[in-house]
Amino acid sequence: MKFVFLSLFLLFVQSHEPSLDDLLGKVSPGSDPTFLKISDSFARGDQYLRKEASLAFEEMARAALKDGVKIIAISTTRNFNRQKQIWNAKWTGKRLVQGKNLAETSLSDSAKAMEILKYSSMPGTSRHHWGSDVDINALENDWFEAGEGKKIYEWMQKHAEEYGFCQPYTSKECGRTGYEEEKWHWSYEPISKPYLEAYLSKVKTEMITGFEGAHTAKEVQVIENYVQGITHCNLHEN
Ligand SMILES: [Zn+2]
Repeated sequence: MKFVFLSLFLLFVQSHEPSLDDLLGKVSPGSDPTFLKISDSFARGDQYLRKEASLAFEEMARAALKDGVKIIAISTTRNFNRQKQIWNAKWTGKRLVQGKNLAETSLSDSAKAMEILKYSSMPGTSRHHWGSDVDINALENDWFEAGEGKKIYEWMQKHAEEYGFCQPYTSKECGRTGYEEEKWHWSYEPISKPYLEAYLSKVKTEMITGFEGAHTAKEVQVIENYVQGITHCNLHEN
């Protein structure tokens, strides 16, 4: 029975070709039936992922809990408009970036974009648009290096893969480009892998537009350096 379910599920994943809107985050998780809210026991606030990812996340969180590890989804699907609010607030100085007000610096536009891009995506380029990616527990690497955080991170490194999740932004020491390391960001590969493939074949840099400083997308090579700047989860060595 489990096998039948799995086969149907794989068939669904393979046949679900994402549209351009899906890829660029023009989605409404709260009213779209292909998204499912994560149970309140494993989420802070209303957190939605695509159905299969949501169920897999809950299964993983339940298993972790049995081992005394409490995994909580704190940020999941963010659509284009939400990402645009975050980006524009950073660009215009309403929100500080690594402690700096970017509107008061003398940085070039591309340097400003790259400063934001250390930890935040340009609208239209975020894996959080896809409904496959989740931030857990705390948005600080330090938190995962001691105490409860360390326990959670170690559990995830050992078991996340069994539930389809991997860490796309690991250390950059091996030559990965793009965002800095994010120990809190995990991706449900059965969805994010085909989404990435579809993204690279359908989305062109000119389509990354509609927010402050969008003209820098080409210069910073946002698709090449950031969308593609991930750790190839299947290949990671332990
Ligand atoms: Zn994230």
